[in-house]
Amino acid sequence: MFDTPDFDDHEEVVSVSCARSGLRAIIALHSTALGPALGGIRCWSYDSGTAATRDALRLSRGMTYKNALAGLDLGGGKAVILGDPATARSPAALHAFAGAVDRLDGRYIGAEDVGMTVADIDLMRDVTPHVAGTSWGAAASGDPSPHTAEGVFLALKATVAAATGSDDLTDARVGVMGLGAVGWKLAERLRAEGARLLVSDVNVTRVTRAAAQLDADIVDPRRLPFEPMDVFVPCALGGVLTRDFAETAPVRIVCGAANNQLATPDVDAALWEAGKLYAPDYLVNAGGVINVAAEASGEYDAYRVGVAVREIGATAARVLETARREDRPTGAVADAMALARIEGAREERRRRA
Ligand code: NAD
Repeated sequence: MFDTPDFDDHEEVVSVSCARSGLRAIIALHSTALGPALGGIRCWSYDSGTAATRDALRLSRGMTYKNALAGLDLGGGKAVILGDPATARSPAALHAFAGAVDRLDGRYIGAEDVGMTVADIDLMRDVTPHVAGTSWGAAASGDPSPHTAEGVFLALKATVAAATGSDDLTDARVGVMGLGAVGWKLAERLRAEGARLLVSDVNVTRVTRAAAQLDADIVDPRRLPFEPMDVFVPCALGGVLTRDFAETAPVRIVCGAANNQLATPDVDAALWEAGKLYAPDYLVNAGGVINVAAEASGEYDAYRVGVAVREIGATAARVLETARREDRPTGAVADAMALARIEGAREERRRRA
């Protein structure tokens, strides 16, 4: 583990196995400098234990940066449960996993991620209080996707304003890839602002509905990133921003909810050099984690969640302005801002010790 490129001085990495339930899992705590490490629990059929470890290391580091830039007093962590989500999530396995989370004594707070459901988190809450994103209880935060959509929308307006001098979306050509929980809400909002929508989804029902209800043009998912448009909004899978996209796509702005949009880290600089304004994914899609963090605090306050989500637009504007002033790629600027906050907290911790 120490030799993989994804290891970044992670504070603690725990492997969990339970012969009785068949559970095999990894919990990675990248940093607790700003507070307990909050991050999702993913269930996935990895090719190997090494692949699962690398994913946990990479994703937990990403959560440190995301939580820091969202202004949360939380560090970054992530857990992966190895196995097919259809069979690896038995109640016995989830209880065993929750026991491991509990033994971390609040240093890690788990939430729903790919391959998991809210019902799984509810089940774990029978064993540990250190999970969030549950469906019941006084602090239950519910569906995070409206908050994610709202944050992306505000960041998108800030990015359009930074690129054109105005955040008016009337008649802007906007391509939304993925019309799921977040993408659909965004598409509705963008249409209401007067944008002309191009949409794609592998789910035919969703694109057909968008054509009928939002007057959207349907485009094949492979073609959409390369259509001439003002704003590309990735809301499906990661890795859509390739060097080819950066160098050839007739697109001015990228701002969407999908995680890990850059296919490789060098695409950040390639987008900047090509004059495409990219709003860093982990900055703009933090609305969901802000909502879950409110539950983790023990007292869900909808007003404070709203204020923190609205701040995403202002943070995006700050990142874009700094990138322009310093002529630096936007992803690099966002990383530096997040790191400055984390380093400040580490320094403070060292002083107190
Ligand atoms: P979702 O599963 O509800 O929707 C994803 C949509 O993308 C589905 O409609 C699916 O059919 C479509 N899709 C899948 N593969 C596709 C492809 N190749 N081309 C076009 N469409 C495709 O997910 P969601 O909750 O809307 O999240 C969307 C993205 O945003 C994901 O990357 C997720 O990790 C990220 N994200 C979501 C949240 C949240 O609050 N839900 C928070 C942060 C980040």
